[in-house]
Amino acid sequence: MMTSPNENKDGLMSLLASVLVDLGFPVIYSNLVYWAKVYNIPLDDVDEALRTLKEEGLLEIKYVFRCPKCGSPLGEYKHIHDVPEILVCPNSHEISKKELVSIIQDPDEADRIVTILWYPTDKGKRFFRTFQKRKEKILQRRIVETISKSSFC
Ligand SMILES: [Zn+2]
Repeated sequence: MMTSPNENKDGLMSLLASVLVDLGFPVIYSNLVYWAKVYNIPLDDVDEALRTLKEEGLLEIKYVFRCPKCGSPLGEYKHIHDVPEILVCPNSHEISKKELVSIIQDPDEADRIVTILWYPTDKGKRFFRTFQKRKEKILQRRIVETISKSSFC
């Protein structure tokens, strides 16, 4: 059966929300990439859905950096503007923002030092809690139905 692009979009939105809830917050973006690959969902569609959830004020993105020299944490930032000009890791390595930016623009190197996390906003926390409850209700009803249809009782 063919579905309209809007139905597809709503379907993906609902599927994505369900996956986000299942993965647990904060959701590591690379886990979502893996999930999309497994289920053969175009990554551009996933990114667009995430962007929509961000625009609706339900999700926010944070970038977690690690020291390129030793891998120690360098903090979480919402935007490159928030990153100080010089970062110092717990092992006293100094990394300039310029150096960091050049690494994160290199596809072969970026994932070594940056992890992208999706956090729910306060509005998002309420939304995903409601979503989770609805999922649980569906499951509870289904379990009762399955039991009553089976020869178990
Ligand atoms: Zn270091």
